[in-house]
Parts: sequence; C-alpha cells; structure tokens
Amino acid sequence: MLKGKVAIVTGSTSGIGLGIATAFAGEGAGVVLNGFGDAGEIERTRADLAAKHNVRVTYSSADMSKPAAIAGMVQDAIRDHGKVDILVNNAGIQFVAPIEEFPEARWDAIIAINLSSAFHATKAVLPGMKQRKWGRIINVASAHGLVASAYKSAYVAAKHGIVGLTKVTAMETAEEGITCNAICPGYVWTPLVQKQIPEQAKAHNMSEDEVIKKVLLVNQPNKRFATVEELGALAVFLSSDAAASMTGTALPVDGGWTAH
Ligand code: NAD
Repeated sequence: MLKGKVAIVTGSTSGIGLGIATAFAGEGAGVVLNGFGDAGEIERTRADLAAKHNVRVTYSSADMSKPAAIAGMVQDAIRDHGKVDILVNNAGIQFVAPIEEFPEARWDAIIAINLSSAFHATKAVLPGMKQRKWGRIINVASAHGLVASAYKSAYVAAKHGIVGLTKVTAMETAEEGITCNAICPGYVWTPLVQKQIPEQAKAHNMSEDEVIKKVLLVNQPNKRFATVEELGALAVFLSSDAAASMTGTALPVDGGWTAH
C-alpha cells in the first residue's frame, strides 16, 4: 500500500516506533529509523527489516532534543531516499514526580523531546511535502494528550501541546494534500511499560498481576495493553489514500480510557 513512499519514524529503535516502522516496511515504504540503543542491535534491526521486506532502510542517530540534529536527520533522509513523504513524531520519554519535586532539567528534556522535536521535524519536512502536494504527519501523543494524571506534569503538558500542534499543522496544510493526525494510546505493551511492572510491584507491595490490573490498567476499561502491531496498522491506515480526508484529529487507542 505504501510502495514508493519514504517514512521517517523518530524513536523507532524500540516499542511503538519500531512497530510503526515495521508496519511501514511491510507495506513497501522506505524507512528511516531513529533512536538510541546498542549499535550492533540497531544495525541488525535495520538490515533485517530491509532484507525481509526488500525496502531501503537507513538509520539516523539524531538526538531529538537538538534542533540542528533534527534538521540534519531530514537532510540525510532526502540525500539517501530522495524525499520524505511520511513523518511520524514518536520519540518520547517519561518522568514521574510531584510538581514541587520535579527537576527543571527533566521538565526541559521532556518538553524538548516529546513536543519541540515534532515542531522542528515538521518544519523541515513541510517544504518538500508541499512541493509534491502529498504528505502524512502522524504525531504519537497519548491518552495524556486528552486527560491528565497526577505527577506527570511535563509529560501531560507536552502531550496536550502536541495535540494542539497537530491541529495547527492540519490547518496550515489542509489544501496541500497533506494530513496531520495524532494517535493517543493508553497503555501499550512496550519496554517502557514492561520495566515499570517489577518497580511498581515493589513500591506498592503487590504482585505483578495486581500492579497490571489495579495500577497500570486501572483507567483502561478493556483491561489489556494495546500492541505495537495495532498502532502500526493505524499508522499505515492514516498514511493511505483512504485517510485523505482525516486531518487534525486526535485518535484514542486506549481501550475506552478517555470515554470515561
Ligand atoms: P520506548 O522507550 O520503547 O521507545 C522510545 C524510543 O524513543 C526509543 O527508540 C528511544 O531510543 C527513543 N528516544 C528517546 N529519547 C530520544 C532522543 N532524545 N532522541 C531520539 N530518540 C529518542 O517507548 P514507547 O512506549 O514505544 O513510546 C513511544 C512513544 O509513544 C512516546 O512518545 C510515548 O510517550 C508514547 N506513548 C507510549 C505509551 C505506552 O504505553 N508505551 C502510551 C502512550 C504514548
């Protein structure tokens, strides 16, 4: 479905980003991977994706907290693939603490990586998309782009911010063949979530099963984690011509959490 298209997926060495990059490659798109991790593992992922789906896959180590590195990632993608048709702003980090104890440096890092990076990357890809009259920008927000939880001030502020940026991007590109939508997942089964389970079990003096049901999935009515494959399939749909009239939306993928 995406043969001939080129996609950048930020934060795609792990979790949701890797799920989306894999789904794009499976549909025939060229892919730029980005994110941190073990160099050998990243190279194996890159080579496996390229070989399995017979598509060009490159890797950018750009740090999403650095505007110049983000511009460089887009320039490299254009050099290596000729263009960028699809941008998925997915890289993100989390930190949990009450506002009075929230370290300033953590606030700045979360705003930079979870929000400002999407602005810088969008700014860099728009001229080419406008020239070709075709583009898809998908911002991975969160249920926390729609509702709040205590102790997540920076994360909730950044995710609400990215939903706003999604709407503005949609307004500015609506007549250019470009769409911009936000995906708002509840809890998704990724390394970011998996590693919280034993930590929370210890903190709450609960079994890992209890932590999943009573802490993590307490607000998620379907009581199960979404999968990265479900999010990959949604990103493919949003990138397809069938979704050409969908723009400026914030789509919950949260098992009913924000229907409360
Ligand atoms: P993850 O930790 O598995 O992956 C995060 C990715 O971002 C990794 O590839 C990491 O290397 C990359 N990254 C982190 N800092 C970076 C930086 N400065 N520059 C470049 N890359 C960087 O996490 P995930 O669960 O897959 O989360 C991905 C996105 O989905 C995030 O924006 C997160 O807020 C959002 N999200 C996740 C969940 C969930 O339950 N897992 C729910 C809602 C939203």
